[in-house]
Amino acid sequence: MILETRAVGPFFKNGYVIGCEETSEGVIIDPGDEVDDLLAAARAHRLSIRYILLTHAHLDHITGVGRARKALGVPVGLHRDDDFLYRAVVQQGLAFGIPVEAQPPVDFFYEDAGPWRFGNYGAWVFHTPGHCPGGVCLAVGKEGDASRSLFVGDTLFAGSIGRTDLPGGDTDTLLRSIRQVLFTFPDDTPVYSGHGEPTTIGRERKTNPFLT
Ligand SMILES: [Zn+2]
Ligand SMILES: [Zn+2]
Repeated sequence: MILETRAVGPFFKNGYVIGCEETSEGVIIDPGDEVDDLLAAARAHRLSIRYILLTHAHLDHITGVGRARKALGVPVGLHRDDDFLYRAVVQQGLAFGIPVEAQPPVDFFYEDAGPWRFGNYGAWVFHTPGHCPGGVCLAVGKEGDASRSLFVGDTLFAGSIGRTDLPGGDTDTLLRSIRQVLFTFPDDTPVYSGHGEPTTIGRERKTNPFLT
């Protein structure tokens, strides 16, 4: 699996490019202010991007959607329960004192588990509300191969969990999503969060102070 991570200030939110090493098809996850770096990484790997997939619709995860969609001409997917946040991206910016451009409407909502395919890989969608109502985990792996990598947005971090004080957030719901969805994956499952370093399910299950 080709995997590139990029992040820039002020939010240092991770944007991801994932590609199939055999077919050179790929997806972009959560394009924000680092979108030009993601597009450059996709070009460097000569990837043909199939989808722009969003883990949720907080502004740091979506400010690059319009640029990516214009550059690539591919559909954008989001969970329906975060559409109210997505449509309010300009107001989200105002709340942080940051001017933000409106973004084009999303093209599809995650109606079911997917997968959204790119080459020999798929991204399976798991609804993990709590940080926000429409937060999802994208479980990415090869068809027929049980091992997956999890792209969890701001639900779970190395040594921490997502904040729940923003509109639509709820701590009990977040903890339930982590325990009943994310922790059903094997301990060696890699976890790529919206901010910070990668971790694994096992490491967080055993050492995360919010979950032990
Ligand atoms: Zn967030
Ligand atoms: Zn974030």
